Amino acid sequence: MRHRVLPLALLVFAACAGHPAGAPAPDSGMPPALAAIREDELKADLYALADDHFLGRESGTLDELKASAWIAERARAAGLAPAGDDGTYFQFWSMARARISPQSDIRIGQSSFKVNTDAIVMSRATAIVAAALVDVGDGKSLGSADLEGKAVVVQITQPKLFLPRDISLRPVRYLFAAAAEIAATLAPKRPAAIILIGDAVADSAWQFAGNWYRNGSYGLEFGETILGPATDTPVIWLKSSARPAVTAGQRLDAKLLFDQFRYPSVNVVAKVQGTDPALRGQYILFSAHQDHDGVKAAVAGDSIWNGADDNASVSVGILAIGRAFAKNPARRSALFVWHGAEEKGLIGSRYHALHPMVPKDSIVAVINADMIGGNHPDTAGLLGTQPPHLNSPDLVALGIRANAMVAHFVIDSLWDRPTHPEGWYFRSDHVPYANAGIPSLYFTSLPHPLYHTQRDEAPTINYPKLTRITKWMYTTGWLAATQTARVRMSRKP
Ligand SMILES: [Zn+2]
Repeated sequence: MRHRVLPLALLVFAACAGHPAGAPAPDSGMPPALAAIREDELKADLYALADDHFLGRESGTLDELKASAWIAERARAAGLAPAGDDGTYFQFWSMARARISPQSDIRIGQSSFKVNTDAIVMSRATAIVAAALVDVGDGKSLGSADLEGKAVVVQITQPKLFLPRDISLRPVRYLFAAAAEIAATLAPKRPAAIILIGDAVADSAWQFAGNWYRNGSYGLEFGETILGPATDTPVIWLKSSARPAVTAGQRLDAKLLFDQFRYPSVNVVAKVQGTDPALRGQYILFSAHQDHDGVKAAVAGDSIWNGADDNASVSVGILAIGRAFAKNPARRSALFVWHGAEEKGLIGSRYHALHPMVPKDSIVAVINADMIGGNHPDTAGLLGTQPPHLNSPDLVALGIRANAMVAHFVIDSLWDRPTHPEGWYFRSDHVPYANAGIPSLYFTSLPHPLYHTQRDEAPTINYPKLTRITKWMYTTGWLAATQTARVRMSRKP
């Protein structure tokens, strides 16, 4: 296993701390409505949106729709015009949801395993299995064993994939990597089913991963989202405590049934028209997601995942940017999109990138952000700045200039590197737009220990930092919206 040491130095693009705060010269490019972005309003909005009232805003539930209606109402109050379907603030679409049916049945010998409680089914295809169990230990030395048509029991052990100790969601990644490696090794042997027995790390992913599988997978189409091993072979995951019930010589009898549903989700879309008749047909798109993880089994007495940083922080940030544009419109128009179902796989942004509410070619730049209220007060991530993620040096230059003008962050560029193990660049709503050939930047204060836990709550947010990144995003967008030359695309990421 390769031992990788991450370099500690941050690469600093622009350092302009101590910039004197005087009145901007008329040609400074300083946006005129910076003062409209107020910490007290951001804080009040965030406390409202991350309140238990919205029950964690899970997409595909009424809670996300409720939160979306709240955002639309705040957008209207901010003076933004509706830009959704039929003169509304909403763009609805259907999510395709598939889940293992509670009617499924799994028996091993005399033991019955209740789906989603005693056993988690990681495969996605309906299957009827009746097969004898064969135990292959950790599955690493199969030799010429004949496993065709057998239910193969494999002990999960550490996967080959290198996972840094502090990588986010490590137990889930560990489980998925181990399951994928085992499934790939066994597939050529054509087993009837694979039964995975957890080790301590996989066991610790049970609740988190179990929530995903209970809800099922979501996408624009059925079957497009894969959680865990990509195989048609039935894969059943058991906790280590089930080990004594699973012994060679017994039989697996399983009936794995899948349910499919169509669920509604929604993007909230609003705009401020530009002032220049020649340029107002072009848009700077400010992007957030309003959904989060909803309600799960209680941890320390709290069952609501409020997603204050992820991503109420940016949802209220782009509301504030909307207030600034409504006060002083730019030459180009500003479009604001609160995407639904980001947490289910960037579904809202994928939908809007395919079916934009304004012509695709009129979107000049996407200013996306995800989580902007955490970590060190003076550092922030700006992604889409380095190859292969860089798709518009023009837009990056504006982001760096805006930082020097109003924000003065030390920009953490490590997370934009293609070698970074988190793949952070690919985990937010700018990606479908970048893939569609639109200049895109991703602002983030990066993940932290509260990320995807029930403790990501309003009192933990750094409000001065939230305000500062919001002003930085506003200024970046303002520059792109006012300069005569259109921001150019350089290359696809
Ligand atoms: Zn997020």
